[in-house]
Amino acid sequence: RGGMANSKYEYVKQYELDDTLLPGCWIVIRIDGKGFTKFSDLHGFEKPNDKRALDLMDECARVMNEFPDIRLAYGESDEYSFVLARNTDMYGRRASKLVSLLVSCFTANYVTRWPAHLPDTPLRATPMFDGRAVCYPLDSNLRDYLAWRQADTHINNQYNTCFWALVKSGKTSSEAQATLRGTQAAFKNELLFRDFGINYAHLPEQFKKGSVVVRQKALVEVKRREDGSPVMRERALPTVLHVDIIRDEFWKANPHLLA
Ligand code: ATP
Ligand code: ATP
Ligand code: MG
Ligand code: MG
Ligand code: MG
Ligand code: MG
Ligand code: MG
Repeated sequence: RGGMANSKYEYVKQYELDDTLLPGCWIVIRIDGKGFTKFSDLHGFEKPNDKRALDLMDECARVMNEFPDIRLAYGESDEYSFVLARNTDMYGRRASKLVSLLVSCFTANYVTRWPAHLPDTPLRATPMFDGRAVCYPLDSNLRDYLAWRQADTHINNQYNTCFWALVKSGKTSSEAQATLRGTQAAFKNELLFRDFGINYAHLPEQFKKGSVVVRQKALVEVKRREDGSPVMRERALPTVLHVDIIRDEFWKANPHLLA
């Protein structure tokens, strides 16, 4: 391990590329399940939305617990986006470090917590997630990013709810696709209501809006006194909400998120 002996080789370090993310920008890290169309099929996920699998994703998003600089997370389907504070200096803002740590932390939790959410379904494949980091310079860019994801949740859910209702009623998947091709939201709502008695507005908010994870203050037990009584303290705990983040209300009620 001598310094002299090692110096002959140290130049290889210069081949590492700098992937420091721009200073002062919001950092969004989005992870997405690899091949979850197949993965969800293999494990018999309820279609279009298996609540157990969504709850598992939401629980994994509590990786926020381990990374104080994560301000907010937004999840739908097999994906989650994590928003890091503008000024974070976590791992020197190095993209590969941030992405790989979040992906591995999330994936490890996914495997560990799987049996609690799908107790009757053994894991039959290795769940994997890809990840990427994107920088957004303006608050409005970040708001638009999150609005883009939540609008995507709504559009996919509306389509998938119709698609699976048609398939479960006996149509082939190509017939169901043909029925829905090029149709507007109003047509889809009408179809669901008229043919299947489903009122889209009454579906669970988790399916329609996805999951927003923010820290909220809650009383938690930090230790026990000698007499066994709990010592409670206020702590900011990651909390999952299924609320609109496109309109201004949420941001007005949570000004600290963009501060
Ligand atoms: P890729 O590797 O390119 O991401 P993918 O098959 O994962 O491929 P996505 O666009 O990420 O493609 O789509 C996710 C798939 O997983 C969809 O088919 C979706 O229906 C399914 N899926 C994810 N979560 C659930 C869930 N909770 N319940 C039912 N199906 C789900
Ligand atoms: P960083 O987060 O920057 O990687 P680190 O503490 O993980 O910090 P590394 O340079 O990656 O630092 O070093 C890995 C450390 O883990 C070393 O101290 C090494 O001795 C220890 N380690 C790794 N594998 C083993 C092992 N199988 N047995 C004992 N020690 C190990
Ligand atoms: Mg993908
Ligand atoms: Mg995927
Ligand atoms: Mg996806
Ligand atoms: Mg290490
Ligand atoms: Mg090492």
